Amino acid sequence: MRLPCPICGERDRREFYYKGAALERPAPDAGEAAWDDYVYLRENPAGDTRELWYHDGGCGAWLVVTRNTLTHAVIGAELASEAKA
Ligand SMILES: [Zn+2]
Repeated sequence: MRLPCPICGERDRREFYYKGAALERPAPDAGEAAWDDYVYLRENPAGDTRELWYHDGGCGAWLVVTRNTLTHAVIGAELASEAKA
């Protein structure tokens, strides 16, 4: 699989570290249940997902990669600092 880093261009996925689903972080005072969901509960969708990847072997940027879990097609990537939730 190849990932399109917005800074470096298309690179092999072995240059990246997979962090997990790109979820919106709860507010600091959101409560125990919201934080428990954020840390431990995950959907297992069949289709397009948004994931966090770190370009460890390249520019060091955090990316939000949109990928289809059925076809493994990478639809796009954007810098996490510019991504909308
Ligand atoms: Zn990069």
